[in-house]
Amino acid sequence: MNRIIDTHAHLYYPELLSELKDILNRAKDNGIEKIIIPAVNLETSLHILKLTEEHEMLYCAIGIHPGDVKESSFKDIDEIEKLISHEKVVAIGETGLDYYWDKSFIEKQKEFFKLQIEIAKDKNLPIVIHTRDSTEDAINIVRENRNGRLKGQFHCFSGSIEQLKEITELKNFYVSFCGNVTYKKNSGDDIVKACPEGKLLSETDSPFLPPVPYRGKKNEPSYIVKTLEKISEIRNDDYDKLLEKIFYNSLELFFPKSI
Ligand SMILES: [Zn+2]
Repeated sequence: MNRIIDTHAHLYYPELLSELKDILNRAKDNGIEKIIIPAVNLETSLHILKLTEEHEMLYCAIGIHPGDVKESSFKDIDEIEKLISHEKVVAIGETGLDYYWDKSFIEKQKEFFKLQIEIAKDKNLPIVIHTRDSTEDAINIVRENRNGRLKGQFHCFSGSIEQLKEITELKNFYVSFCGNVTYKKNSGDDIVKACPEGKLLSETDSPFLPPVPYRGKKNEPSYIVKTLEKISEIRNDDYDKLLEKIFYNSLELFFPKSI
């Protein structure tokens, strides 16, 4: 059986939470050993911690998403910082920059992103980065603030091949692709192909971006195999070997003590 980690699934969405037990069983049946749930603000950070205490396979990233910066305060960051010592916290995030939904808070987004980078360095935890129409700025902020110590993931990568190269040249940075790599109009095959094997992680971004043939449904971790099959097909890689490598990469970033 292949060993898989879904590094990004928002399992606290009501439509997933209502059948969480079945979703986790289907995940296990498909070789998924661990799932990381990323928070988007203080409230979800607290909620997710409870979920991880109830289910052994669940872990979490806690932090403030760029889309939630507008409604969040510095006090929320302080509160999140207090939660980091919890044993199920494996990363800070998701943070990053989003210029697609709301451009009026770009400076506050940058400030919160940098603050969370400092916390990640301080606690020696990886950072989970969301970008939308903002990849270049996010890469620059990481480069200027990483201090040689920061490690992390550019999740649901949607940048250019040049930006991919910039990220993979940063030590200890990884990328992952979502179910949209299976869509007919997906134009990112060359980027999936160009990503070095040692820099690839796996994720679903559940409940969003379900892969073919589940489009129109809510995404869930077990569907990750469809995305991974497509990635190995695009790259012309041996499926089992690719999964083994991706599993190792995920441990290396989020569970370094286990290897
Ligand atoms: Zn997310």
